[in-house]
Amino acid sequence: MKKQTIAIHTPYVRPDAYGALAVPIYNNVAFEFQDAQTMSDAFCNRIKSPDYARMENPTVTNFEQRVKGLTGAAHVTAFNSGMAAISNALLAVSGQGKNIVTSRHLFGNTLALISNTLLRFGVKPRLRDLTNLEAVDAAIDEQTCCVYLEIVTNPQLEVADLKGIAEIAHKKKVPVIADSTVIPFTETSLKDLGVDIEVVSSTKYISCGGTSLGGLIIDYGTYPQINQRVKYELLVNLGAYMTPQVAYLQTLGLETLDVRYQRQASNALWLAQELSQQPAIEYVNYVGLKDNPYYTLARQQFGATAGAIITIDLKSKEACFDFLDHLKLIHRATNLFDSRTLAIHPASTIFGLFPQRQLELMDVRQTTIRFSIGLEDPEDILEDIKQALRGI
Ligand SMILES: *Cc1c(COP(=O)(O)O)cnc(C)c1O
Repeated sequence: MKKQTIAIHTPYVRPDAYGALAVPIYNNVAFEFQDAQTMSDAFCNRIKSPDYARMENPTVTNFEQRVKGLTGAAHVTAFNSGMAAISNALLAVSGQGKNIVTSRHLFGNTLALISNTLLRFGVKPRLRDLTNLEAVDAAIDEQTCCVYLEIVTNPQLEVADLKGIAEIAHKKKVPVIADSTVIPFTETSLKDLGVDIEVVSSTKYISCGGTSLGGLIIDYGTYPQINQRVKYELLVNLGAYMTPQVAYLQTLGLETLDVRYQRQASNALWLAQELSQQPAIEYVNYVGLKDNPYYTLARQQFGATAGAIITIDLKSKEACFDFLDHLKLIHRATNLFDSRTLAIHPASTIFGLFPQRQLELMDVRQTTIRFSIGLEDPEDILEDIKQALRGI
């Protein structure tokens, strides 16, 4: 089956008693067993049958199965946020004395998780330029537990050579973990690019318009011990499994993901081209533009589309604030891939508590506005941007 069919037709592990077409919400915690032996087999993982909803729930399982079908993964585990998926993945590979080879160009909370929280438990960050393969090679040593990166960084929109990184890492038996939140797995196969573990904030594209928080660990099975840790140690001991109501919402989102994504990506490309013609904008950053430094690499790795995040630079921070204050249709809000177009000044919000020197190291500029392009008619989005530019 092709992706759009898999997203809709993945069968349930056990058929619903009433033949419900949309996924039923099993809003319960415990499951009954017909006899003591079956119960013992389920609890000791000799058979696969849900016993307690912190570890398994049929509504969540169906969501995971659909993602498994769409990605060709060996194992998929759903969490109650993107950060829960990321922290569980990193806890599964790391430990006292280990180091993580990664970049300063990371989602702010992921950077803080690696450079503050995990550091307190004896895991060391090695922040490098991941677009420089020699630097990656030099950073990996005996104690490296993974190379961690985002496939298109936000808000810098930097793209690293995934195959090149995977080759270097695999020679040294180090897994590559990649956050693919900004380009959905319906578009690109990270498995084919050598990624071992994919993590996703399903809060974004998958939740369908910002309905719920969720996250995924998509495990390609190259390091079986990682799945063992996630499923049989961390899920049980940390308790960050997705809830059935969220799995229901995100399953609905998954069914329309590809259709929505295609529209958002084509809106974004058209708008990026139009914004490049606006004299009040100093710079338009979108990896789908032909003159973008990552255009060719992004096409090779992710195919014809380039996501729905565009950033623009205006002449000053004041101009950015004026611009945001003049928007009428576009919402001043964070979040990515909502149905609505959103705009934010990252330096004063998401990164507002970082010192200026740190922002410079992270290439987060005071002159940048980030857009997440929505599902509206793109001409209306452009009109709003043009009228707000006239106000600065
Ligand atoms: C939003 C986001 C996260 C965190 O996801 P939550 O679901 O908000 O916990 C992680 N990585 C990237 C790239 C994101 O955009």
